[in-house]
Amino acid sequence: MSSKKNSSNSNFYKEPGPKLSKESPFESMMERFRFAADILKLDEGMFQYLASPVKQVIVSVPIVMDNGEIKVFEGYRVIHDNVLGPSKGGLRFAPDVNLEEVKALAAWMTWKCAVVNVPFGGAKGGVRCNPKELSKTELERLTRRYTANMLDVFGPDRDIPAPDMNTNEQVMAWIMDTYSMNAKRTETAVVTGKPIILGGSQGRKEATGRGVVTVTLAALNKMGLMPNKTKVVVQGFGNVGSVSAQLMYEQGAKIIAVSDISGGYYNADGLDIPKMIEYSQNNDNSLEGFESAEKITNEELLELECDVLIPAAKEDQISKENAHKIKAKIIAEGANGPVTASADSILEQNGVMVIPDILANAGGVTVSYFEWVQDRQGYFWTEERVNRRLNRMMRNAFDNLYSVSEEYGITLRQAAYVYAINRVVTTLKLRGIYA
Ligand code: NAD
Repeated sequence: MSSKKNSSNSNFYKEPGPKLSKESPFESMMERFRFAADILKLDEGMFQYLASPVKQVIVSVPIVMDNGEIKVFEGYRVIHDNVLGPSKGGLRFAPDVNLEEVKALAAWMTWKCAVVNVPFGGAKGGVRCNPKELSKTELERLTRRYTANMLDVFGPDRDIPAPDMNTNEQVMAWIMDTYSMNAKRTETAVVTGKPIILGGSQGRKEATGRGVVTVTLAALNKMGLMPNKTKVVVQGFGNVGSVSAQLMYEQGAKIIAVSDISGGYYNADGLDIPKMIEYSQNNDNSLEGFESAEKITNEELLELECDVLIPAAKEDQISKENAHKIKAKIIAEGANGPVTASADSILEQNGVMVIPDILANAGGVTVSYFEWVQDRQGYFWTEERVNRRLNRMMRNAFDNLYSVSEEYGITLRQAAYVYAINRVVTTLKLRGIYA
C-alpha cells in the first residue's frame, strides 16, 4: 500500500473543543451550563430547549480503499443551536469519536461563539477513523463522501465546518470542492480554515495567540499593570504558545520561561523569543538543545513567580495538586481546559484571575467568522485590518465578561457561561418558538 499520511498540521489555527471526561462528555458540559442557568433563573422550558441539540445526524461513509476493498466508517454532525445564525464548528477525524462527544462539543461551540459575539450557533462533526492508517487518497475519498452525505446539512447559511483534530486546510479544500461541485457553483463560504488561495483569511495562523494576548493585555489593564513591566511564563511553544510569547515580547514584557514537550527554558533576565522561534522552526518544531537558557521542568515552570502564566500546551496542567503553588496574577488559558475544575476554586481563593479558554482562545473562531464574511463579500481584507478587528472583538468580549463577573460576583469562567447563555436566551425570546 502507498505511504500513509496523518492529515494533522499543528502550524495552523483550529476550532478544537476541550477534552471531555470519557464517561459522559455531554454531562460534564451540562454541569457548567446548569450553574449558569441557576444564576440566570432560567425556566424549565428554556433549560430543556438549550439542553437539546437542534439536529443530530449519523451517516455511514463507505469508501473504496487503495487495495480495492470497501470499508465503511461512521460520520456525525450535531447542530446544537442555530438561534444566533448558521451553526459553526470543527470536524475531527479520530478513532474514538462518538455521538455523545460530538454533542458536547457542539454545545460548547454555541457558548464560545456567543462569548465573542460572532453571529453563529454551535455545531461539531466527526468521522470515526484512524487517519494515521489512511493514505492521502483514502482520506480524500472519506472527506468527499462524508461531505456528500452532509449536503443537506452544510451550507454557508446553514452550517459551516472548520478544521479540528486531524483535519487541516487540505481537508477543508476537499469539502469546499465537493459542496461546490454539487451546488454547480464555487461556494467558498461553506467552510473556514481554507488555504488563502481558496478564500482563506489573512492573519489566521496567528489568530488564536493574538486573541490570547489581547485579553491578557485587557486583564493587565484592569489590574493596573503595565505590559512592559510584566514577567510572563508560557507553557507550550506550538501555534498558540509561540505566537502568544512573541506578541507579549513585542509588548515589552519579559518572557522569563517557555516550554515545550522537551522541557522548560528559563532566564530571569528575559528570553530572546524571536531567536527561540527561529531555533524551534529549524529544529523540527522543538526547543531541545536550545542553549541560552537554564533548563527547568514543566512543573517548575508553572510555579514560577510571574505576572502572567499562559498555559498553551494541553489540558489538566493546573490541578488541585499544584494550584496552591501558582504565583501568577493572571492565567490566560491558551489551551483548552489547562485548569481543572478542582483547581478553579483554589485559584479564586488566592486571587488569581483566570481568563477562561472559551474566551482566551476564541481568536481562531473569530477569524473564521472574518473568513466567512470575506468569502461572502468576495472582498479580502489586509492582515492589518483582520488583526485590528480581531483585537476589537476580543477586547469587547473581555470587557463584557468582566462586567458580568462584577455584577454577579462570579469568576470570569462562570461569567462566560452566564453571558453566552443570556445572549442565546435573549435572542430566542425575541424570535419566539416557531409553532
Ligand atoms: P501545537 O501542537 O502547535 O503545540 C503544542 C505545544 O505544546 C508544542 O510546543 C508541544 O511540544 C507542547 N507540549 C505538548 N505537551 C507538553 C507538555 N506536557 N508540557 C509542555 N509542553 C507540551 O498545538 P496548538 O495548536 O498550539 O494548541 C495548543 C492548545 O491550544 C491545545 O489545547 C489546543 O486544543 C488549543 N487551541 C488551539 C487553537 C489553534 O488555533 N491552534 C485554537 C483553540 C485552542
